[in-house]
Amino acid sequence: MSLDVVHLLAELVACPSTNPRGAPPSAEYPGEAPLLRILELFFKTRGARVIQEEVFPGRCNLLATFDGVDRSRTLLLNAHADNVPQDGMTIPPFTPDIRDGKLYGRGATDPKGGMAAMLAALDRFLAAGRPFPCRVCFAATCNEECGADGAQALMRLHPGEFVAAVVAEPTDLEIVHLHKGALRFTIGASGVAVHSSLPERGVSAIRALCEVTARIEGPYRDSLLLRTHPQLGAPRVSVGVFHGGSQVNVVPDHAELQVDRRTLPGETVDSVQRELEEILVAVQRDADPRLAFSCRLSENYPPLDESPDSGIGRLVAEAARRVLGQARFAVAPFGTDGGVFSSHGLPSLIIGPGSIRQAHTKDEFIDLAQVRQAVDLYETILTLA
Ligand SMILES: [Zn+2]
Repeated sequence: MSLDVVHLLAELVACPSTNPRGAPPSAEYPGEAPLLRILELFFKTRGARVIQEEVFPGRCNLLATFDGVDRSRTLLLNAHADNVPQDGMTIPPFTPDIRDGKLYGRGATDPKGGMAAMLAALDRFLAAGRPFPCRVCFAATCNEECGADGAQALMRLHPGEFVAAVVAEPTDLEIVHLHKGALRFTIGASGVAVHSSLPERGVSAIRALCEVTARIEGPYRDSLLLRTHPQLGAPRVSVGVFHGGSQVNVVPDHAELQVDRRTLPGETVDSVQRELEEILVAVQRDADPRLAFSCRLSENYPPLDESPDSGIGRLVAEAARRVLGQARFAVAPFGTDGGVFSSHGLPSLIIGPGSIRQAHTKDEFIDLAQVRQAVDLYETILTLA
């Protein structure tokens, strides 16, 4: 008998895998390790080859591989293993509560509903003794929520190993083939600190970054609005974090800001970094020569731009028609590990149960009817692979 996807989902939600956001894993924000232990047991008892690959100390990707009839092709199934923090939730985050056809808890929609459905679909093949048409690798990636480093590491360590990827994220079972990317940069300014009684002798790093912010959110933002994509609209830019100064009576010699830049297909790390550096050069030209800037990439989520007519596009569309009665291709307002895979030349599509409207919320839940449909959908994708 194959396993019940709702029980499995409850078990995954009951196991916090909260992203520690750059800090070392702790009791409250343990990262992926506890969840990967459950996945490792799940896959080992089902005969998969399981490996964990460390990306940061205590933060790993897990890969579970099953052979198939055609060993020359490997389909990648992916769900990220981290959930966002539980702070501020109005329901018990890790005590799954099932009512009115929904399961409530942190991670229920993002990412564990889709993950449970992928696991249950794999289990149906294994429980029935059905061979997979090709080799299948399920990869649970780490740190998707804070930089997609797990997906980047997976591509770095396994170049050319997969023929296509299906990524579970909450898309309401629509096939997401297009989304913007997101680049985050940290811009630092260093000036000259002096006593505030003689500010004209110093160089204020805060003042310099205020000028940078005004240009980023002014002329630069306006210029981006002229670049439009028929489905994604214009790129976006905003300054989300600003730190500076140490003491009120000191002209600050250091300040830092963080820029979020939503990119279109075709925009790259280099092209965007060059645009930001042009702004820094322009500010510097009018400033004290002792002022210096730095500009460093901190997070890189590439955009996704997959044709519905690609091999994986046609396969997933056929599976959706069989299971859901229709194949709806869609554009997502958020970035995913799929963009990372696609930037490494791996054809990738995003489809999963649950809605992005419930992801990261204070009372996160997922519709269980959709989770069950997703099991059928992933099973059909595996059948057609
Ligand atoms: Zn997600």
